[in-house]
Amino acid sequence: MIQSLVLKSRSPHQECKSFIIDSTCNIRNGSSRDRINLNSTVRQRVLLLFIDGIGLGPADPAVNPLIAGGREILKISAEQQQLPSGGLCVATDACLGVAGLPQSATGQTTLFTGINAAQAIGRHLQGFPNRQLRQIIGESSLFKKVIGAELNATFANAYTHRFFEKRPRWTSVTTTMCETANVRFRTMKDLESGSSLFMDYSNRFLIDRGIEIPSRSPEEAAEILVRLASRYDLCVYEYFLTDLIGHRGTFAQAKALVAELDRFISAVLDNANLEQLSVILTSDHGNLEDMRTKLHTTNPVPTMIWGPLREHFSEGANGLSLTDLTPRITRFLTQHNGQPAAN
Ligand SMILES: [Zn+2]
Repeated sequence: MIQSLVLKSRSPHQECKSFIIDSTCNIRNGSSRDRINLNSTVRQRVLLLFIDGIGLGPADPAVNPLIAGGREILKISAEQQQLPSGGLCVATDACLGVAGLPQSATGQTTLFTGINAAQAIGRHLQGFPNRQLRQIIGESSLFKKVIGAELNATFANAYTHRFFEKRPRWTSVTTTMCETANVRFRTMKDLESGSSLFMDYSNRFLIDRGIEIPSRSPEEAAEILVRLASRYDLCVYEYFLTDLIGHRGTFAQAKALVAELDRFISAVLDNANLEQLSVILTSDHGNLEDMRTKLHTTNPVPTMIWGPLREHFSEGANGLSLTDLTPRITRFLTQHNGQPAAN
């Protein structure tokens, strides 16, 4: 149902449409996960789940598909802080002190660099990063900082053949980040061999286009992602059907999407050794959490953190901004994995 909508729809936001074209693309509620010896010599790893277009919205299941469709993780509204598996949810400002509705190019550039991109260009920019934002990404991205500290990083998303045959003129923030930090693009071969995920982790998007690839349950996809993330200091996965459905979907489609995504995230947490692999989930702006509007919202977005990285978010737990993510992740990895901080 969701898939047929995606196939027919045209997102009002360029980034949503184009990324689809260019990308193929246990302890529950326990405290023992919190008592982690951070002085241990165990290498610390971070998995960043970037979920496009989800905010902290009204606690009303009639308007908020996160409340209506969420199970353990995504059933969140502004009031919630504690999460299963010892996680913490922190409200994160996406408006960045700039008037207007927050948008993807500036929000994602801010998220993935720590620099307030909306202030830098004086407005919220939708779609793809422009020259100014590309420069900020090229100089200061999370990948650039992590790799500059002699740590390794990967982007879990797979790109289709089409991307390599004819590179799109305009590319998303994450694609720009990979290119400028020389992070390898994962391919359809990686997807087939179980070392990558498509932006739609179920592969239904590809299967509907006649590509022969097995479909994956949320649990199978989660296993693949955690296995990949366990090999890198930093692994980033991007999922944006949430934003797409927020713009063009029905409430029923949004609810079904959230229910499946919740299964995926829960399975990631079940598979992850949270003593060594921290999981952080965040977004670039609100959208899906209020189906009364098809536009983005000014709501804060959730930042959810599990594992030792959580300690780096206890300060400011009453509120973060999108500028806070990249510096804290970088600091955590460089401190624990024994390398000097990058510039
Ligand atoms: Zn959007």
